[in-house]
Amino acid sequence: MARVVAGIGTSHVPSIGAVVDKGEQDSPAWKPLFDAYEPVKSWLADEVKVDEVIVIYNDHACDFSFAKYPTFAVGMSAEYEIADEGFGVRPLPSIKGNLEFSAHICRHLVYEEEFDITICRDMKVEHGLLVPMNLCFSHGEDWPVRVIPVQVNVLQHPIPTALRCYKLGKALRRAVETYGHDLNVAVMGTGGMSHQLHGERFGHLNTEFDNWFLNKIEVDPQALCDMTHDEMMDQAGAEAVELIMWLTMRGAITDDAHRIHRNYYAPMTTGMGLITMQDTL
Ligand code: FE
Repeated sequence: MARVVAGIGTSHVPSIGAVVDKGEQDSPAWKPLFDAYEPVKSWLADEVKVDEVIVIYNDHACDFSFAKYPTFAVGMSAEYEIADEGFGVRPLPSIKGNLEFSAHICRHLVYEEEFDITICRDMKVEHGLLVPMNLCFSHGEDWPVRVIPVQVNVLQHPIPTALRCYKLGKALRRAVETYGHDLNVAVMGTGGMSHQLHGERFGHLNTEFDNWFLNKIEVDPQALCDMTHDEMMDQAGAEAVELIMWLTMRGAITDDAHRIHRNYYAPMTTGMGLITMQDTL
């Protein structure tokens, strides 16, 4: 039987991708961030031995557009192309999927959980998914894990509530647990912590809020589920509402899962956070 073995919450700041592509991970500004992920990489590869990752991310009007923004979209393909976000296609291996596992998850969500997702047979993936992959996994000609992309609309309002995202995580866990193949699955929730990239509050950071969020996601996620979008945006900037996606990860792991890694780095315009949690199984 497949099982959820780990949860990861991480930021997906796009400039991280450019740093990777230029090989500047050891530059003074970025080394503290990349160093924090080195133990995560070895933990995922050697300890929890992850086979598949369900990545909860948002598309930033790249493969989707404001003309049509699905609330929840799940990839159901054997492969996902790297999208061109306006600077050319990044030199990364394409993301390999697992068609049979994806199809099971889609069926389970629709038939058993009443999550009427958008099913994507063709999906190009961008920094919301690729930056967390860069941070948590090394790759040669291919990535060491297969991926199921789950795209969440955090741009075109009305967007899903934090509680709805948490419930999606619980539904995803049940979907994993009803798949009859032996697989170790990690669930990754992505999105920036405090940041606002427009208007009078451009560059707004709230490091106190971000650290409070990291505390709560570990021990009291219900407090975060009770937050409204307005409260999140008011506290931490408009784009911080991406944090609702971390709650999908938290819903997918057990209440008593324990934290393994935690990091926070905020010298620029976005609070960059990391938490990993290991399930009790
Ligand atoms: Fe984002």
